[in-house]
Formats: sequence, C-alpha cells, structure tokens
Amino acid sequence: MIITVDGPSGAGKGTLCYALAEKLGYTLLDSGAIYRVTALAALKSAVKLDDEFALADLARHLDIQFVPQNGEVQILLNNENVSAQIRTQEVADAASKVAVFPGVRKALLQLQKDFAKQGNGLIADGRDMGMVVFPNAQAKLFLDASAEERAKRRLKQLQSKGINGNFDQIFAEIKERDFRDRNRAVAPLKPAEDALLLDSTELDINEVIAQALQFIESKK
Ligand code: C5P
Repeated sequence: MIITVDGPSGAGKGTLCYALAEKLGYTLLDSGAIYRVTALAALKSAVKLDDEFALADLARHLDIQFVPQNGEVQILLNNENVSAQIRTQEVADAASKVAVFPGVRKALLQLQKDFAKQGNGLIADGRDMGMVVFPNAQAKLFLDASAEERAKRRLKQLQSKGINGNFDQIFAEIKERDFRDRNRAVAPLKPAEDALLLDSTELDINEVIAQALQFIESKK
C-alpha cells in the first residue's frame, strides 16, 4: 500500500509520517530531504541556485544514500553524513528555490518512485506525492495548518534546542516558502482531489495520527 502525505512545511507532516511508518511497519520516503540534498550539493559546488541546466545535471548525478541507523535514517551525500546540514534554514530556503525547476523535479522523480519497490508499503512525505509522484496511491492525505500556527511551532522547536528565534522572521520565511511552493508552474503544492484534508491548527498531533489511521484503514 502507498500512502501519500502532502502539505506545507511545519504542518506536522514529518511527525505524522514517522508515526504512521512506525505503526504500520512501512518504509518512509522523506522527499523534502532529497530536494534539500540537491540544494546542499549546489551550495557546496558553487552551482548557482538559478541555473536550471546545471542544477538538473547535478540532480541527475546525485550520489545520495539513505542509511538506517538506530531507528533513524542517516542521509549521505558523496559518502558524507549530511543529515544535520540539510536541516538549516539556509538549505530549506535553497531547496524551495531549486524545486521550482521542472528539470530538477524530473531528474529526482525516479529516485522517489524507486522507494515503492521495497515492497513493504510506503509512506511518502512531500508536496506533490499524491498529485505527481504516486498518483495511484491508495490513501492520500493533505495536512495543513495556518501559517501563524506553523511559525509558532517552529519557534517552539528552536527554543527547545536552546536556539533563540524571532517570530516575525520565522513567520515571514514560512510565508515566502509557502508562496514559492504553492505558485510554481510545475507540481505546485495543492491537495489531490481524492485526498483527505486534515487541518492541524487546532488539533493535537495524536488526534491527527488517529484520524489519518482511521482513513488509511478505510482504504485497505
Ligand atoms: O519538506 P521540506 O521542508 O524538507 O522540503 C524542503 C523544500 O523542498 C520545500 O519547501 C519544497 O520547496 C521542496 N519540496 C518539493 N517537493 C517535495 C518535497 C519538498 O518541492 N515533494
């Protein structure tokens, strides 16, 4: 069974997908990480973030590995563990810039589709999982939350790591990235017609997980 979970950053997709993969014993595809690694590879090799041709070439030849370790997946780029490096705001921002290019998206398509070949069921987390990468998925979810709530969560997350964040700056960054993701010409962020829409603004993550599981069960 393939389950897709799309939505904007900060809506709780990561937590939801991790919980679903654990509960169902399915493989997890974090497609955002693939865009982040592409962006990081560009930043490291001085490929400009507006050079579609060079970015697509880089994406086609990406040496990326996903290595399970102690219940987590480590992400390697050219054999270097970049799991922490790809989580910075700079890389998130760069990822949403490289993701607007059709050539880059095309180059990364097969890599994402191949995750379904592992055979034990797949939870695919991203922006275009239900619309483009796995249009035939049996269960599609779209998880949203207000931009303000997502900014509050991001600030809390930073504070829990002892990092001082600025709400206005985080809010502005979230809105800017949303705008790019929702308005790009190719594979813009939007729910598939057959997706269950969940809004986590007022919901606790456990309620989101419960509703998602109920929906998935109804599709089995
Ligand atoms: O989900 P995450 O925040 O890690 O994604 C980083 C960026 O990668 C997103 O803002 C988006 O621009 C891009 N992305 C995408 N399609 C996906 C997953 C991520 O365009 N399926």
